[in-house]
Amino acid sequence: MSMTVDRTQIEALVRSAIRQTQPPGGSALPSASANPPVAKSSSPLGWVDGKPNLRVSISARHCHLTDEHVEILFGKGSVLEPDKDLYQDGFYAAKQTVMVVGPRRRMLPSVRVLGPTRAFSQLELAFTDSISLGIDAPVRHSGNIEGTPGCVLVGPAGTVQLDQGVIRAARHVHMNDHDAAYFGVANGDMMQLLIKSADCSMTFDDVLVRADKAAKLEVHIDTDEGNACHLDAASEVHLQPMPQPCACGH
Ligand SMILES: [Zn+2]
Repeated sequence: MSMTVDRTQIEALVRSAIRQTQPPGGSALPSASANPPVAKSSSPLGWVDGKPNLRVSISARHCHLTDEHVEILFGKGSVLEPDKDLYQDGFYAAKQTVMVVGPRRRMLPSVRVLGPTRAFSQLELAFTDSISLGIDAPVRHSGNIEGTPGCVLVGPAGTVQLDQGVIRAARHVHMNDHDAAYFGVANGDMMQLLIKSADCSMTFDDVLVRADKAAKLEVHIDTDEGNACHLDAASEVHLQPMPQPCACGH
């Protein structure tokens, strides 16, 4: 899906959004309740008797940018400025945010940029975000953005039209080789995540293993998934390989 928003329209949107969301002289902050911080996590569970320490984090809406897009949006010579380190070493939430404009002039006024920069720009939304924005974003694994919808990103110095890259990030688990060996899984396998919460326990199938030497064991789900099982109040989280269908075909 390709989309064009003319420049005057964008400028008008920016002005109205700044009026609505920014205190005088302040910067746009995500609202506290509807937009939890990136990589918010449950209370620590695991690492008992030498077992991996399972962490389940909600990855709130965010975007990844190329170096080129950082300069267009934030000005020539600009680089991402780390604000908060994420649990995975080397990754951070940047100080910068962008406004995202969708079709029919709908927009999200403040979407956090995550660093470091990447070879392509990508916007990751929860289903609810994509409804607000009016974009029918497909569930995709990060990087697999061929044929996905685009959007317009607006920064203080300029705008970028993405022809593709708007996705609902598919649930996945980062882990290192030791974790993978412990669970008996390999990169690309699917796992199952069980969340026990009062009156809203859930089982998530299709949790993709993303194994990397430097990764720490961490499941990433989006805000809709995290809210549905009330992750913050979960009493237990458990990760296991996807159960195999039994030999009789059931
Ligand atoms: Zn992740």
